[in-house]
Amino acid sequence: MRSLDFAELRIPLTSIRTGQSEFNFETKNPELEPGVGRRFPDVIRIAAKVTTVGNDFLLDLQVNSLGEFNCDRCGTLFHQKIQGKIHTLFTFQADEADVEDDDVRLLERGTVEIDLQRDVIDALVLAVPAKTICQKSCKGLCPQCGVNLNEVTCQCKTEENDPRWDALRQLKPDN
Ligand SMILES: [Zn+2]
Ligand SMILES: [Zn+2]
Repeated sequence: MRSLDFAELRIPLTSIRTGQSEFNFETKNPELEPGVGRRFPDVIRIAAKVTTVGNDFLLDLQVNSLGEFNCDRCGTLFHQKIQGKIHTLFTFQADEADVEDDDVRLLERGTVEIDLQRDVIDALVLAVPAKTICQKSCKGLCPQCGVNLNEVTCQCKTEENDPRWDALRQLKPDN
């Protein structure tokens, strides 16, 4: 498997045969958009299958890596395996790429390679679950004293545990 810098993730068009060609790379440290709130600090393994369709190129991309996330419930940093897949059609024909479609990408005239950077990031980010939870049984933080309830048991009584609060809440207007 070829090891490349993230910015070098490109497939020269001359290396794509008519029919199907496969490329395997590994890379590290993608530059994610700031504020994405997730990191992929480990090696990223990339399997790229390119199928020629007339003069176009259909890319089937599969990426595997380890995501680093903060648990949505307790805030703890944890790692989770991520596997993402994405399909993109690269075309020189402007009318095909005209549609507002992320799956179709226009290659400018004279382009000599397919750049994989954006698709690799998209595949990884799309594969991240909407909620990142360190473990199914994560108890989260105590809403009153803030301790991590996976590690400590506190003495706080939360409102939810006390049915008398429910009765009180019903008497008050919502805001
Ligand atoms: Zn957690
Ligand atoms: Zn507490």
